[in-house]
Amino acid sequence: MEEKALSLYKILKNHYGLVDAELEYSNIYELTIAVVLSAQTTDKQVNRVTKRLFSEFTDFKSLAKADISEVEEIIRSTGFYHSKAKNITALARAVTAAGGTLPRTITELTAFPGIGRKSANVIISQGFGIPGLAVDTHVGRIAHRIGLTSSLKPDIIEKELKSMLDPELWLDFHLLLINHGRKLCMARKPECSKCPAGSICSYYSDNQ
Ligand code: SF4
Repeated sequence: MEEKALSLYKILKNHYGLVDAELEYSNIYELTIAVVLSAQTTDKQVNRVTKRLFSEFTDFKSLAKADISEVEEIIRSTGFYHSKAKNITALARAVTAAGGTLPRTITELTAFPGIGRKSANVIISQGFGIPGLAVDTHVGRIAHRIGLTSSLKPDIIEKELKSMLDPELWLDFHLLLINHGRKLCMARKPECSKCPAGSICSYYSDNQ
């Protein structure tokens, strides 16, 4: 399985080259809040609201003191805005109460309100440069279709994928899979005829 994972990495790297994260942020505070807001919506949609959010609330401390209805109004278009506003203000209060600095481990990060394993992996890898491999809907779906996992549980898929690749490839692999999921391996109608990974894909060989 390690060989297949590495082949997929190489194929996608060759096809897409350098892939950047779509979420826009300029510091760890902005990344963390943007990641929490990105649940159930697109990164583009998050970017549309965070410009104003981050100009009005510039750090955890100011967001901790925010009026929740004002936050709701700003982030409304990202969906689930009641719970997201509650989550990000509770998170800001918790970080402020803990001294204002985010911890750097998945275990510690997931103890904060609104941060699950997926978000924690994004925060450590993109924010701190510590290896992390976040399993979102694209990563899970493609890992399944390629035949790298038989599990549908993100926590298990994360563990399996991490065991197959060197830690220095985890973030790039995650970004490549997300890009592939948006461009070719979509949930409903994957464009297998255009896909460079067809030769190693179980879904493709099963549907020939
Ligand atoms: S061959 Fe099809 S299902 Fe397999 S990775 Fe490519 S687009 Fe996805």
